[in-house]
Amino acid sequence: MIIAIDGPSGAGKSTLGKMLAKQLNLLYLDTGAMYRAVGLAVSRANVDLQDDAKIIEIAEKAEIQLLGEPDNLKVLLDGNEVSKEIRTNEISQMASIVSGISEVRKNLVKRQRDLGESAPNGAVLDGRDIGTVVFPNADIKFFLTAKPEARAERRYEEDLEKGRAESFEKTLKEINKRDERDVSREDSPLKIADDAVVIDTSEMNATEVFEKMLEEIKNLQEA
Ligand code: C5P
Repeated sequence: MIIAIDGPSGAGKSTLGKMLAKQLNLLYLDTGAMYRAVGLAVSRANVDLQDDAKIIEIAEKAEIQLLGEPDNLKVLLDGNEVSKEIRTNEISQMASIVSGISEVRKNLVKRQRDLGESAPNGAVLDGRDIGTVVFPNADIKFFLTAKPEARAERRYEEDLEKGRAESFEKTLKEINKRDERDVSREDSPLKIADDAVVIDTSEMNATEVFEKMLEEIKNLQEA
């Protein structure tokens, strides 16, 4: 079974993706972490951000591994753990920039398909283009969304918890900037797939969203 979860930053995709993967014994694939790993590799290589050819080369060469259980995921770049480094504001923006380059997307989409297809029981993938591009034939597609303030609040709380928070205003600005790039890029923009189940999570807690998603999956299995 392939479950696609798309939506803007901070809508709850990764929290719900992990909960579903655990419940249904599926692989959890955080596709944003892959764009972040490429963003980090580009940042470390100190290249000109206009130099698409160099960025594409870095993306192609980057060895990215997502390891561990949903609750304790590790991201490795070229064999070294980078789970924390990829979550900084700087790398969020780098991920957003490199994700606008078609050849970078093509490379990562292929890896995502391979990983999803080879998972024994199937996978839950979270990202921006899962239901529209990576797995257009996914068994079920969710589009999670929420008001910008609710999304920034969640991201800010998460950052506080992890000790990397700056300010709420900065977080709001940061996610708005990335969302704007995601919806306006030419290749695979963030958009709702025609057959996606849309859930506005602004006024819901994770358990409520989880139950709604499980119910949708159950309906599908009974249909
Ligand atoms: O999901 P996350 O915020 O970690 O993703 C980081 C960035 O990677 C996003 O801002 C988006 O630009 C990009 N991304 C993407 N397609 C995906 C997943 C993430 O373009 N499937």
